[in-house]
Amino acid sequence: STCVSVWEEVSIMDEKNIPIRTYQVCNVLEPNQNNWLRTDWIPRSGAQRVYVEVKFTLRDCNSLPGVTGTCKETFNLYYHESNEDRESYIKESSFIKVDTVAADESFTQVDVGDRIMKLNTEVRDVKVTTRKGFYLAFQDVGACIALVSVRVFYKTCPLTIRNLATFPDTVTGADTSSLVEVRGSCVNQSEEREEPKMYCGADGEWLVPIGGCLCSPGYEEKGSASCTAGFYKAKSSDPGCSKCPPHSHSLRDAATVCDCHSGYFRSDADPPSMACTQPPSAPQQLISVVNETSVVLEWTPPRRLGGRSDTSYSLECLICQTAGRLCLPCGSDVLFSPSQTGLKTTKVVVSELRAHTHYTFIVHARNGVSLASGAGATQSVSVSVTTNQAAPSPVSFVQATDVTRHSLSLSWQQPDRPNGVILEYEVKFYEKDQKERSYRIMRTFSQSVDVTGLSPLTVYVFHVRARTAAGYGEFSAPFEFSTNSDPFPLIGEGVNSAFLLLSVSGVGILLLISAAVFIISRRRSKYSKTKQDSEEEKHLNPGVKIYVDPFTYEDPDQAIHDFAKEIDVSSIHIEKVIGMGEFGEVCSGRLRVQGKREIYVAIKSLKAGYSDKQRRDFLSEASIMGQFDHPNIIRLEGVVTRCKPLMIITEYMENGSLDSFLRKHDGQFTVIQLVGMLRGIASGMKYLSDMNYVHRDLAARNILVNSNLVCKVSDFGLSRVLEDDPEAAYTTRIPIRWTAPEAITYRKFTTSSDVWSYGIVMWEVVSYGERPYWDMNNQDVMKAVEEGYRLPAPMDCPVVLHQLMLDCWERERAERPTFSQILNMLDKLIRNPGTLRRTVVPEVCVPERSMCEWLQSIGLERYRDTLAAAGYTSLDSLLGITHQ
Ligand code: AMP
Repeated sequence: STCVSVWEEVSIMDEKNIPIRTYQVCNVLEPNQNNWLRTDWIPRSGAQRVYVEVKFTLRDCNSLPGVTGTCKETFNLYYHESNEDRESYIKESSFIKVDTVAADESFTQVDVGDRIMKLNTEVRDVKVTTRKGFYLAFQDVGACIALVSVRVFYKTCPLTIRNLATFPDTVTGADTSSLVEVRGSCVNQSEEREEPKMYCGADGEWLVPIGGCLCSPGYEEKGSASCTAGFYKAKSSDPGCSKCPPHSHSLRDAATVCDCHSGYFRSDADPPSMACTQPPSAPQQLISVVNETSVVLEWTPPRRLGGRSDTSYSLECLICQTAGRLCLPCGSDVLFSPSQTGLKTTKVVVSELRAHTHYTFIVHARNGVSLASGAGATQSVSVSVTTNQAAPSPVSFVQATDVTRHSLSLSWQQPDRPNGVILEYEVKFYEKDQKERSYRIMRTFSQSVDVTGLSPLTVYVFHVRARTAAGYGEFSAPFEFSTNSDPFPLIGEGVNSAFLLLSVSGVGILLLISAAVFIISRRRSKYSKTKQDSEEEKHLNPGVKIYVDPFTYEDPDQAIHDFAKEIDVSSIHIEKVIGMGEFGEVCSGRLRVQGKREIYVAIKSLKAGYSDKQRRDFLSEASIMGQFDHPNIIRLEGVVTRCKPLMIITEYMENGSLDSFLRKHDGQFTVIQLVGMLRGIASGMKYLSDMNYVHRDLAARNILVNSNLVCKVSDFGLSRVLEDDPEAAYTTRIPIRWTAPEAITYRKFTTSSDVWSYGIVMWEVVSYGERPYWDMNNQDVMKAVEEGYRLPAPMDCPVVLHQLMLDCWERERAERPTFSQILNMLDKLIRNPGTLRRTVVPEVCVPERSMCEWLQSIGLERYRDTLAAAGYTSLDSLLGITHQ
């Protein structure tokens, strides 16, 4: 069989009467057949797992007259990896078996005459990673086969754009569970926000997008179309193009900023979203009040502030020969209070001016765009004043020299502002002990005086003042000197240090007090919040039955007695084993209670050799279930506790658990049917939450389905086991993929955490029993969820359903919907099936229809700039246009 092939190449007609070539073999009468048919070399082209789809017909051995035990109804598929593209002879033993292939569909006679030729189609996959290519071979062991076609292919995740990053067509991994990590690259006109990454799954579907890109400035997020005229986008992180702010416009596409209309400006610090503004007009109504050598200036704000609120004022001070003429800037000795520039107030006191002098004061108003609008453009108002005659300012420094037991020489400096010609100085002094009860006065034209006739070793206090034509100035501060010692001026006018200390500690105490008050009030409010929280949680609906925890019973048998009916074992008829529960087998059977018709039931039994705790846990499920009465909660028929084995009898659910049921019927239901199932589960969960029962293990595997596709919540076991076990948080018993983050991290199980699980069940249902988060491990799932990753919409999932899932997966549990809201939402969807039609499609960049396109389409594009200049830049804004 290795040299001469028994397989024959035969032309036949297919069902459409088109001739096709087949390979046939039909040595059914002779024993020990071993007939091989080999393909040419098939290059692997980078594939790691290839799929072989074989179409063939197989004859039923029974249909062949006179055949004995030699006839077979299968053939074998083999492969051999090789770098050689022209191997002429390959040993049988070099081939590795892929599978034995049997006819699945039908054993039809290849009755070409009657044009009946039902084909079998079988697909097998095999990992090919070691060589550049491979050969396939078909081994016949004595069947009657016609091979019609062999299609060899591999799967790729198709080129896609996600989060504005392009992911190339990617060959799937070698194993059915392996994910291929792929880096995306940002689409044109976009920039990387966070390294875009996705995984290519074995079935050619993209999974777990991470990171992504943002449209560049001037380009819009929705499909990276450029912003049209009249719009702009400043930063790539901005959500989209925005309309130009007031007094600005953009005439070209892809603007990153709008230009200001002429006469309007933007300061460097103004964001592009801010309107363009103008410098202020001049300050108004400047008035001056002269008081000796100081002037109080007051004005009112400008009439136009230019659209800004950062107006400030500055003062120019000019000293003039005659009123308002031949002016020079004032010296730096003039004082402005509060300041000369950057004034926010409209009042300034100018002091330390010269007496009898002409001044001109100019008040400028400016704002953030005064500089931008051009030099010298500030608007101002001015006033000219003449200061009055004024006495000299006080002498500021006095010193003593040549001190003896009875005399000293006193000298000083001229006052800072004499305000005229000094005619004389006056010195007043007295013994310190005497205070000012008796003092002496001396006068002099010079800036020093010898003071004699003093008592020895006595401290004297001196004050000096000057006199001009305008009169005496103020006395200087006190200067103290002691006779017959070195001059020893004390700090005469300093602040009392004791007071300083006191006041410093006073401020400290005040600070301490206010800090304490703050802390106390914070604590109070936090306390009251937690109190409120717990009150909210304990708030019960009046008139609604509340679930009673059977573990609060001292005697567990009492709980069972209260909530479950004892059934006589003789009325139960067990038929077959249908599953395996935690405590033992689950069987189906019939129950006939006197006076009622026979019903199908599921029977859970507790296997022999149980401990007290196991008995208690086993029966607790019945005690819990027995309290519920709702069409979407599995109904308890009763229990058997009087004889062994213990049994729990519930209604029978023909289709078993929801997850396996959906996997078995992949893709076979309408969206409305799926939503109907979800509605049932939500309704059951609403009932449980109204009863104040937290399920803690809501998952598709714990939903049972009956023959009418009604879904019922079951499995009331786990909750108790967890709570009583202090180690529970660390055991593997928490169903991580289904559990809300706060329940995983600090065991905060609430109805809101049940809502999270409900969202996962929704995902399981819409994806026909796919495992949430696929083959990611628990640690990665927790991390991804913590970082904000959420399961994507399953294939063909209506947008509204995925949005509802995302709502159930809000990080903040208070933000999640309640079961009653979920129920309302699903009811609404069922009533309006149109809303379910929109499914999640991969995002693409679709440019928005712009004003420009529209004008083009009606032949009026020449008006584009005119319209833009008038502020009509979008189709929306055109709606507001009037006849005027
Ligand atoms: P459980 O211990 O409740 O998880 O049950 C184990 C398995 O038995 C389930 O996964 C179901 O396949 C099956 N089963 C349990 N209760 C019923 C029921 N009332 N009707 C049909 N099958 C059931």
